[in-house]
Amino acid sequence: MDALLNNKVLLLNASYEPLMLVSGKKAIILLLCDKVDSLDDYPFKIRSTYMSLNLPSIIRLKEYINYRFSEIALSRKNILRRDNYTCQYCGKKLSPNKLTIDHVIPKYKGGENSWKNLVAACKACNSKKGNFVLNKINMKLIKKPIKPNFIFHFQKEISRHQNSWKQYLFLNEK
Ligand SMILES: [Zn+2]
Repeated sequence: MDALLNNKVLLLNASYEPLMLVSGKKAIILLLCDKVDSLDDYPFKIRSTYMSLNLPSIIRLKEYINYRFSEIALSRKNILRRDNYTCQYCGKKLSPNKLTIDHVIPKYKGGENSWKNLVAACKACNSKKGNFVLNKINMKLIKKPIKPNFIFHFQKEISRHQNSWKQYLFLNEK
């Protein structure tokens, strides 16, 4: 039962906006306190001496709360996560230690340390690009680097059990 209670549950605001991930245990407590409705369940039950209930996968607060999201820190780890550990020039997916962080506009050209100017790159592409500007050397990015928002964290958590989360995380659109 303990392992089941460690499953992550998507908590939505009363407005259906995603707020955070909570543990199964916390979700059950919120349900039992009548603070949330369950919108979707995992395909397994939580059983104890006193009760048996489905473990929710998505819960929604009955009352709206004001919640401000903190910014996602600009770090090597988060850039690699945003880029899905994929070189943004050749598209190769690699382990984190095989990837470097490349300045799209080189530093000496005024390129900043920012979400829009830093991308994951394999060592080969990074050294091929060197200090050049992309349009000078016929290399291009496979996608435009953007600053991720809070939904990014949830999107990375989705596993096979959480297909039903997609409609709330804007992943249904192709
Ligand atoms: Zn590459």
